[in-house]
Amino acid sequence: MVSQISSELIHKYIDGCHMLHQHGLVDAYGHLSVRLSPSTFLMSRYMAPALVAGKEDLVIYKVEDGEPVDANAPRGFSERYIHSEAYKAYPSITAVVHSHALSVIPFSVSSTPMSACFHMAGFLGQKVPVWDCDTVYTAEDSHDMLVRNNKLGASLARALGDETGQNCKHAVALMRGHGMVVVAESLEMVIFRSIYTAQNAQIQQNAIGIGGAVKLFSAKECVDSAQKTSGGAVKPWPLWTQEVEKSNMYENASNC
Ligand SMILES: [Zn+2]
Repeated sequence: MVSQISSELIHKYIDGCHMLHQHGLVDAYGHLSVRLSPSTFLMSRYMAPALVAGKEDLVIYKVEDGEPVDANAPRGFSERYIHSEAYKAYPSITAVVHSHALSVIPFSVSSTPMSACFHMAGFLGQKVPVWDCDTVYTAEDSHDMLVRNNKLGASLARALGDETGQNCKHAVALMRGHGMVVVAESLEMVIFRSIYTAQNAQIQQNAIGIGGAVKLFSAKECVDSAQKTSGGAVKPWPLWTQEVEKSNMYENASNC
């Protein structure tokens, strides 16, 4: 039950939803989740992340099939399988963001890959994978680009993995004509990675627009800059928290 979850985690989750909105990662659409246990995760009900305000807005889902633990739970997101299948595939993942950030979508439809070119986003590596729903759709599926079932979610999760499929290799996978999924081992880091992925995408587009050769990060620059920011949410988190908690736009009524 949601009432048994620590109020500290709920408070942080709600702040995280608000941070994604404040940084333009979500509008009415997109979502954040956090793992509660090997078999469950927490997500808001079907609503804009900016408006999530209290425990009554939250739902616990099963990792196994993406369905709510409580059959009477309020309506959830149709794309919750993005989250459930990422948690199922990679036990180390504890937080997931799905975003339609405008800056990343051009790289999901272009032959030019998104690559780390900004020191805060070395975790992106030299080539962010693009998952194409068209490779998974069957004739019976709606071709609306959404991840509406476990089959599509599992395929997307595999795009984050290494060659063996056993390990999560990528922090981000783009979704063609749609957006991205971002994963991390903490709620703070999934917000961090979401924000700096969108910034890297904007920088790369701007550099391409200037013209001339664009020098992207080497493999070592990716690894070393990712290492440098691996604890990176520690510094911005208090700032991001204060930004949303001092804003009249957002309400966080959780008891913490
Ligand atoms: Zn979506």
